Amino acid sequence: MLTPKKTYQQQDTYPPMSDLSDLLRNVFGFDGFRSGQQEIVETVIRGDNVLAIMPTGGGKSLCFQLPALARQGVVLVISPLIALMRDQVRGLQSVGVVAGALTSANTDAETQYVYDGLENGSLKLLYLAPERLGSSSTFALLRRYNISMIAVDEAHCVSQWGHDFRPDYLKIGELRRTLGVPLSAFTATADAETRDEIVERLFDGVPPVTFLRGFDRPNIHLAFAIKDNPRKQILEFADARKGQSGIVYCATRAKTESLAKALEDSGHNACFYHGGMDPDDRRHVEARFAKEDGLIVVATVAFGMGVDKPDIRWVAHADLPKSIEAYYQEIGRAGRDGAPAETFTLYGAEDIRLRRTQIDEGLAPADRRMADHGRLNALLGLSEALECRRKTLLAYFGETTEACGKCDLCDAPVETFDGTQNVRMALSAILRTQESFGAGHLIDILTGKATDKVRARGHEDLPTFGVGRALSTHQWNAVFRQMMGHDLIRPDRERHGALRMTDAALPILRDEQKITLRMDSIRSARQTPKVKTLVSDEDAPLLSALKAKRRALAEAADVPAYIVFNDKTLIEMAQERPQTLDDMARISGVGAKKLATYGAEFLSVITGAADRVHPTRRKIAGRSEASLYDQLLEAQADLARGRDGTEKPLSCSASLLAKVAQMRPRDHRALERILGERRAERFGQAFLDVVSQAG
Ligand code: ADP
Ligand code: ZN
Repeated sequence: MLTPKKTYQQQDTYPPMSDLSDLLRNVFGFDGFRSGQQEIVETVIRGDNVLAIMPTGGGKSLCFQLPALARQGVVLVISPLIALMRDQVRGLQSVGVVAGALTSANTDAETQYVYDGLENGSLKLLYLAPERLGSSSTFALLRRYNISMIAVDEAHCVSQWGHDFRPDYLKIGELRRTLGVPLSAFTATADAETRDEIVERLFDGVPPVTFLRGFDRPNIHLAFAIKDNPRKQILEFADARKGQSGIVYCATRAKTESLAKALEDSGHNACFYHGGMDPDDRRHVEARFAKEDGLIVVATVAFGMGVDKPDIRWVAHADLPKSIEAYYQEIGRAGRDGAPAETFTLYGAEDIRLRRTQIDEGLAPADRRMADHGRLNALLGLSEALECRRKTLLAYFGETTEACGKCDLCDAPVETFDGTQNVRMALSAILRTQESFGAGHLIDILTGKATDKVRARGHEDLPTFGVGRALSTHQWNAVFRQMMGHDLIRPDRERHGALRMTDAALPILRDEQKITLRMDSIRSARQTPKVKTLVSDEDAPLLSALKAKRRALAEAADVPAYIVFNDKTLIEMAQERPQTLDDMARISGVGAKKLATYGAEFLSVITGAADRVHPTRRKIAGRSEASLYDQLLEAQADLARGRDGTEKPLSCSASLLAKVAQMRPRDHRALERILGERRAERFGQAFLDVVSQAG
């Protein structure tokens, strides 16, 4: 039975928690709150000023959308980009919430819809482009209607230091004072300076109730590799994920173009994006990316805030990002829907030099530059980490966690060695040559290569000449890179990148401190990350059938695929295989409106796949295992909802059943090897009975 959609418009008191859960379930189709959401929602509904810092994908929008449904009046949402607003409005309308936007890109009909909704009181959320705040008519308009609160999305845009700065955001404080309503600010940017600026500018310096939610994004797999034919590394990574939407970040515009071409040439659907393109072309790429399933965008960091697609399955860095914050923000664009997502970051000594130089040559004041070096150092530390990346990353944000099991270093621990002596040799070579040379010449000295340059400078007479013969040039390069990574040495831009020792190296030089280095940095460069699929083999065909259905529906309605259902929802459908609309309603992401609009169509994909004679069954027709197959199918149908019919629906694919029929397992262990734990638990005994009776 479908739950009738209630209207939540006129309520005098704050709704009890159970009502909020109902709204969450019936309107958005979510089973529960994500970590932190409930507290924020309750505080926002109470009418307090709120600052919520949540990671990307943490579910910030719900924190003002749900209160909008629970409170009287209109929630005014300020959001920096038209594309973001349109996305959210479309998403809300698709679940049956009356929402609209006032932007310069509106059609007359859209604007009329907003005014009608304001007049008749049906509009729950009004999205407003910040540039509208510049005109006094906007303030007058807003005063006329019952605006209950202001929600500011991407609140860090108010920070003059950030590269997302929007001058119009500075008018929000005045708007808050004029309307005299509570304000909630949301951002994923966590550093203390930005936070202070937000409090200063949006809340007149009076600290609001502040929520800082954990930074972990457990569904995102983390991996780094040392550059070693980087184009090939990126191609291989993309090849293993064909058909999935992804972003490749590059340090230069030229590289985005050449890498996009290379990806296209090897059969991917790819395009490039950078700040030098004209705005129309950029918008075109943004629109394609939002809509198409499986497009790869190769981009500079200009491809950023406007990227609101929840089903980006991977993010790769062809070059090292500029800081640990940038890295976190960029990888954070993957997997916002909560389904598994992967990241892959390439780095090398060249990257370190490039990023250092960019900071040194930047226009920022000295203390800012020093902080930027620190942020780069934190990222380099993460690249050269010796244990769990997630542990290292979260430690930077002040969180502690166990080894995660979802990063390259948990997958395959690195070998390490005591690098103290090698580092001391390198430092000695640097100092004895007056900190005037780059790694190449220094390594020639260490390995005892009497090149022309070495001879011309008399460097073969140095006591360090040849002391490092035990390591190859390749290995020395890894040592130098790691020394840069640990910020023991820095390229000096005034001396063409000659390496200088930093104070951090002193304790090692004096033999007061040891340093552990990675052994296999070079070898691991050749390992490509494993191919990872979103569901098990047996669920994969159903998932692609569901995706095909989604694509058809999205194209017909001219909306992005995820507006129909996101990946996480389809994955759950493929795994749980709901058999009725009731079952379907229990899938996360299926609310009342979507159940009514799409439920039956997706259900028929699932049940249709089970009803029709499966090709696998057709293949074994007439053979001895055919009747066994049919009996297994029957036994399975009886248990689809568990022994007492109340459990989550579960079934086995045709090929699994065929395998059981063919291999005739005799004990639970053997069966479990075929079916996996979950299915063996549900069907094990029944299947074993069928097999043993068949003799
Ligand atoms: P961000 O914090 O980055 O703004 P969004 O608000 O866009 O994140 O939410 C990210 C994704 O998570 C969206 O696809 C949204 O539908 C989903 N989501 C949000 N809250 C929940 C929830 N409680 N249960 C399941 N999915 C949720
Ligand atoms: Zn880990």
